Amino acid sequence: MTKHSKQIKQPSTEPIVIRRADHGISRKEISPSALKVLYKLNDAGFDAYMVGGGVRDLLVNLHPKDFDIATNASPEQVSKVFRNSRIIGRRFRIVHVHFGREIIEVSTFRAQSSQSTKVSGNSLARNVKHLDSVQNQSGMLLRDNVYGTIEEDAVRRDFTVNALYYTVQGFTVYDFCHGMEDIQNRILRIIGDAEQRYIEDPVRILRAIRLASKLNFTIEEKTEAPIKACASLLESTPPARLFDEFMKLFFNGNGLLTFNKLYMYQVFGVLFPPLSNIISFSDSRDRLMLEGAFRSTDERILNKKSVTPAFLLAAILWPAVRRSYQQKLSTKLPPMLAMHDAGQEIIENQLAQIAIPKRFSIPMREIWEYQLRLERHNGKKAELLVTKKRFRAAYDFLLLREASGEEMKGLGQWWTSYQTADAQQRQTMRQSLQQSSLPKPRKRKVKSESSTK
Ligand code: ATP
Ligand code: MG
Repeated sequence: MTKHSKQIKQPSTEPIVIRRADHGISRKEISPSALKVLYKLNDAGFDAYMVGGGVRDLLVNLHPKDFDIATNASPEQVSKVFRNSRIIGRRFRIVHVHFGREIIEVSTFRAQSSQSTKVSGNSLARNVKHLDSVQNQSGMLLRDNVYGTIEEDAVRRDFTVNALYYTVQGFTVYDFCHGMEDIQNRILRIIGDAEQRYIEDPVRILRAIRLASKLNFTIEEKTEAPIKACASLLESTPPARLFDEFMKLFFNGNGLLTFNKLYMYQVFGVLFPPLSNIISFSDSRDRLMLEGAFRSTDERILNKKSVTPAFLLAAILWPAVRRSYQQKLSTKLPPMLAMHDAGQEIIENQLAQIAIPKRFSIPMREIWEYQLRLERHNGKKAELLVTKKRFRAAYDFLLLREASGEEMKGLGQWWTSYQTADAQQRQTMRQSLQQSSLPKPRKRKVKSESSTK
């Protein structure tokens, strides 16, 4: 225990100790950088463990995305051991140890902050500085830096399978919450009272759904029961944090499954307010559009192709944009302007919940506006459009719309053929299009006598 610890409690339960021969984790599967951090902290006289997704994923034979380390050293002590490190974070103060492009996250053991101070929204900004743990009036944790023992650190984690601690001293796994048994039974179980844990941090709802999809685990009954009722708590989660969670939810190769589960637990609609009126998906095209986008994102990730949140977000919000566009057209707004305004309106509405960075929201609007440009492809325009940076995404988007059942009059097929055609064929395609869509001869306006004068 370090002198920085704020709470000292005797451990109430002894952990289950799982020896090297019984857990199957090999050092070869752990990032050399994470191992270095473990050994160096031990050499400096501290306890250090790999914990969380690193241990969990190795135990189910997956490749961990990252390796998190927990220690009894304070952030300052950790940063003294590693010159290549930085203390970051406000809600949690943690240390990032840099090894080239790889970052190992080191956090000091923390305690569950049941003794934290409740503050009202208004006094928060003024009072937050001197408090180690802060909740708002509904019990949500805002700041949480109460250091503790390893036992306390284990029970403030979210799920039992995330509270397994691996040490290089004897290569043992310490199991404080019966996580190993849950791994064996493929069960995702929250630690403590589910409702209270969701109130403290509603993002745990998203984590439950994401991890159950990723691991193909069943969400245990009591963990599952309050999800629907607690989903609206996500409305008060900071939008920037929800953007990070959005990325983790849908860019891991299990997006479609995750979407279906989020939808089933009535969480999806909370994340995307512009869809609130159509979330029952009574028009099958809307749901097919979203499913198609998640499926193609998963496939691209599987095939190691690039993916962008701009495309996926454009597709998720399309049902709302399409309706808003139609509505604006009916007020006689010109199409381009109607699409521009619809895009702006829907993005603004969405930003209140998920902070989409401009570098993604701008291309999203371009993808929507290009849908109109792809419809007006006669003459030289087609030749110019295929050379544009946004063409590929807009064309893929058009195909998704077509596949979802929107009536596109063969537009997708036309563009597919156009791209593979040679110069001569392209010209013929444009001409045949011009002939078939020749504008009807306009009636000449008879200028009034007064206007000619
Ligand atoms: P992955 O890295 O595969 O997304 P992970 O479980 O490692 O999954 P991280 O975000 O890296 O997720 O978090 C590391 C660990 O920190 C978790 O395993 C869990 O023990 C703890 N943790 C993360 N978020 C929370 C939370 N909101 N509440 C409680 N504990 C959390
Ligand atoms: Mg992790």
